[in-house]
Amino acid sequence: MSGPLLKVENLTKHYPLGRGFLKKSGPVVRALENVSFSVAAGETLCIVGESGCGKSTLARLLMRIVKPTSGRVVIDGTDVTDLEPNALRPWRRRMQMVFQDPYSSLNPRLTAGQIITEPVENFERLSPKQRQALASDLLQKVGMRPEMMRRFPSELSGGQRQRLAIARALALQPSLIVADEAVSALDVSVQAQILNLLLDLQQDMGIAFVFISHDLSVVEHIGHRVAVMYLGRIVELALCEALFAKPTHPYTEALIAAAPLPDPTRVRSGSPVEGEVPSPINPPCGCAFHPRCPYAVERCRMEIPPLVPMADGRLVACHVRTRALDI
Ligand code: ADP
Ligand code: MG
Repeated sequence: MSGPLLKVENLTKHYPLGRGFLKKSGPVVRALENVSFSVAAGETLCIVGESGCGKSTLARLLMRIVKPTSGRVVIDGTDVTDLEPNALRPWRRRMQMVFQDPYSSLNPRLTAGQIITEPVENFERLSPKQRQALASDLLQKVGMRPEMMRRFPSELSGGQRQRLAIARALALQPSLIVADEAVSALDVSVQAQILNLLLDLQQDMGIAFVFISHDLSVVEHIGHRVAVMYLGRIVELALCEALFAKPTHPYTEALIAAAPLPDPTRVRSGSPVEGEVPSPINPPCGCAFHPRCPYAVERCRMEIPPLVPMADGRLVACHVRTRALDI
């Protein structure tokens, strides 16, 4: 295939806070500002950042659950930003989503078998035999026994429910799965099992992932590339290994320093991120990170830093760290 599977260009989402005539002119939540990236077939792009930085908004825009204020979403070369629901249907098939809390996203009145075959039955009729075969196949793909198809979500463990949500996402053989905090509610040991399952599925089926998490240790395990977000913007985008070996944006540096160490032999220095995340209703001028940044200079308070390519190909939005490139 030529070109990326998914491309987003200058994606922006402002939620108006006012009602009536204030809706147009009143204050807005700047949930996402000018976000651009692409995802190749079979690739995992991780999105990390603290709570409230716009990760779920980005997921909803990718899935076209909400419309962007501006910017474009392009799938396989087709701009799907303004497609009406009917025209969107074939694209919806190709992109599926897995949420943080499978319990609230799984219908409690349906059995596991009904839950995972439902997406297919929205598109085609299945005989009882076909339905059973599909449910059995999907359950086995996610490491569950076929007998589980008769259970209700309330009769499953947290890990099993998340496997079920993944099985449902796989039912339509998607090219891309958007996983929003998909393992965040699980115990660490179950987290590892689900992450390994996703890695296996990717190898077997060539699925691409946009994997959203606030947890860097999870990202390190699963990502090919990582985009670090701060207050609605990408501040660093790099290959996973490069990001962890040499974080370049001061915010990435602080996040990695604050993360628990999965490898006790590795030494990390620096202090955790101090201070509060500012409000996206009234973000700081210049670089939004400057009030928390130990390296901030005058220019950081004045100008929003653009994402600039560094020598190793990573993108960084920081006046101080990209200064060497200025002519
Ligand atoms: P994250 O998933 O990174 O925690 P979100 O995308 O959920 O971040 O939220 C980003 C910002 O947008 C937050 O300040 C949040 O309060 C705001 N927000 C999200 N959805 C809405 C909405 N429907 N209306 C108004 N503000 C919203
Ligand atoms: Mg979220």
